[in-house]
Amino acid sequence: MTLLLKGGRVIDPSRNIDHEGDLLIENGKIARLAREIPKKGCPAGTEILNLKGMIVVPGLIDMHTHLREPGFEYRETIASGSAAAVAGGFSTIACMPNTDPVNDTRSVTEFIRRKAAECGLANVHPIAAISLKSEGAQLSEFWDLKDAGAVGFSDDGKPVMNAGLMRRALEYASSLGMPVIAHCEDRNLSAGGVMHEGTTATELGLAVIPGIAEDVMVARDLLLAEYTGAALHIAHVSTAGSVRLIREAKARGVRVSAETAPHYFILTDEAVRGFDTSTKVYPPLRSAEDVAAIREGLADGTIDVIASDHAPHARTDKEVEFDYAASGLTGLETSLALSLRLVWDGVLTLPALIEKMTLRPAAVLGIPKGTLADTADADVTVIDLSREWLVDRAHLTSRGKNTPFHGWTLKGKAVLTLVGGTVKFRDL
Ligand SMILES: [Zn+2]
Ligand SMILES: [Zn+2]
Repeated sequence: MTLLLKGGRVIDPSRNIDHEGDLLIENGKIARLAREIPKKGCPAGTEILNLKGMIVVPGLIDMHTHLREPGFEYRETIASGSAAAVAGGFSTIACMPNTDPVNDTRSVTEFIRRKAAECGLANVHPIAAISLKSEGAQLSEFWDLKDAGAVGFSDDGKPVMNAGLMRRALEYASSLGMPVIAHCEDRNLSAGGVMHEGTTATELGLAVIPGIAEDVMVARDLLLAEYTGAALHIAHVSTAGSVRLIREAKARGVRVSAETAPHYFILTDEAVRGFDTSTKVYPPLRSAEDVAAIREGLADGTIDVIASDHAPHARTDKEVEFDYAASGLTGLETSLALSLRLVWDGVLTLPALIEKMTLRPAAVLGIPKGTLADTADADVTVIDLSREWLVDRAHLTSRGKNTPFHGWTLKGKAVLTLVGGTVKFRDL
């Protein structure tokens, strides 16, 4: 099958490309990008899509999602999560190991890959647990998990409280050329908390998770990465303190990369005032000063990646008192449009944003994605920047309807998602 994407603005940060052009796709691979590819130069039967006015980018990558299968299929399955991914413009996702059973063994990693291949939507890369059952006591079998197809290690959802274990995880992962993805939180400072420490929490009378609970652990993990020389990736950065620490570590040459999620640069803890449990996320929504620092960190390159931290929950998990509600929001289908606000607000150029959603996460995970270079897999996302759309939880593809953005009108939308040259989502 041959497809010619014609006349779009092609942005490929892997080669500093940003111009109008035609992209030819043959047999699942990128065949050619040129200012103009005439139809007569294409094989017979080539399908032509006129994309004048559209943005054509490498397939978006979300390196931090929760697919919930095995174990919590009522929240999300690999199939429903993959469908939500391509609907959000993501051709590739990496899924966290906090399923039941936890992805701490070859059989779970292989199960996820097999299920993902069967549903045939997005590319799904499992991230395996650092410790058995993510209990923080004993390292999982890193080599075996890598061999089964894992692309990184994380106990996401829980911090690794034991610094000795984290040191060994960094050393072991580094010897395999794999990243450790850290959920940074000191439980001694955060235990029992449900929202950010500040005046809003005092007024609402809710127990707090102070920003320092994140900062302390970021500082520890940066020191361990510096000491071991290993590659560390810091998940969902939410505080000004973390941004400062990561910036300083990068300046010293520490091998660290970092991600944040849209809700940490769009919302503040003020959003919790209505006690809408979809604003209960982990780490919590922070102060306006933290949001400003996150935006600065994105602009100056301290924060490399934007990930959704897609955390779908069932109604029964969320339709309870705030204190008892599960943490997390459903993010795959709103991540792109929310991230585009950084462009509308002048924080990032469009190519810089696309880089944080394609090339950078591919580099962190060490996967050959995030490029439109010749012979690359034809994973392509087409974006309509002018499309305005209403976020309606009833219309989300994900099983998780827990979004604090319900009722918001957002600008910019993925209208076509190709994975391996095949159309997996189309709204053109
Ligand atoms: Zn986490
Ligand atoms: Zn997470």
